[in-house]
Amino acid sequence: RENLEGKAAIVFGGSRGIGAAIAVRLAQEGADVALTYVSSPDRAAATAKLIEAEGRTALPLHADSADADAVQAAARQAAERLGRLDIAVINAGVLALGAIEDASLADLDRSLEINLRGVFLAIQAAQKHMGAGGRIITIGSNTANRAVAGSSIYGMTKSAVGALVRSAALDLAPRGITVNNVQPGPIRTDMTREAIDWLVPRIPLGRVGEPEEVGGLVAYLARPETGYMTGASITVDGGMSL
Ligand code: NDP
Repeated sequence: RENLEGKAAIVFGGSRGIGAAIAVRLAQEGADVALTYVSSPDRAAATAKLIEAEGRTALPLHADSADADAVQAAARQAAERLGRLDIAVINAGVLALGAIEDASLADLDRSLEINLRGVFLAIQAAQKHMGAGGRIITIGSNTANRAVAGSSIYGMTKSAVGALVRSAALDLAPRGITVNNVQPGPIRTDMTREAIDWLVPRIPLGRVGEPEEVGGLVAYLARPETGYMTGASITVDGGMSL
């Protein structure tokens, strides 16, 4: 349980859902954890309490992933207040669904801003504070593997995250920093609440996943023992995109 003892992490988009489960799991394994949020201070505070209950330091930070200065400031504050930065998980994301005939420019721009530009900004911001052994983990989506109708915007952003991760992994490899991408499939969160009945019959394992099942994989990727893996995209989706 203490695999991340002495480490410091930041989870961009760590207030609820998958990001909160990741933040808590990193704390359970021994890390101090900063977490950003944009609209849910109460959820961020609740997640911070769970981290503190593990005996770790929690640092909730308001930072919109669309705001480059805020993303830079969040990474800097995490490194300063936690004393170091070893792990950055970039989870913040939005889901805009709709057939291409109807998709709005606003949805396109917002999705690119958070799911893609925001991931780029967070990688750039976090790596500055990392040394050898640093871990950057993005949260993509299984829609990068296999399209579903109505997901042209979302799938496009999440496919691009996989490409971004491969290039960033090459750039940061000489410094001993790894960059990997976790691609969840349907997970029980606010994002999927209304779609669960539609999703379950399409999932080979016959159920949606729980946020903790993504948290465990992210913690594994954050550990020292995983230092030889970089540039990889790993899917955890109950077999949906096979
Ligand atoms: P939720 O909608 O439940 O939570 C989204 C999280 O991202 C919240 O912590 C939210 O903060 C944060 N966030 C959203 N926009 C911003 C922003 N502009 N700046 C900072 N933080 C932001 O989503 P999930 O937990 O379901 O999804 C998490 C990630 O996993 C996303 O990237 C999503 O695309 C991906 N994913 C999810 C799947 C699923 O089935 N749930 C499947 C595949 C991928 P706040 O609380 O302040 O709004």
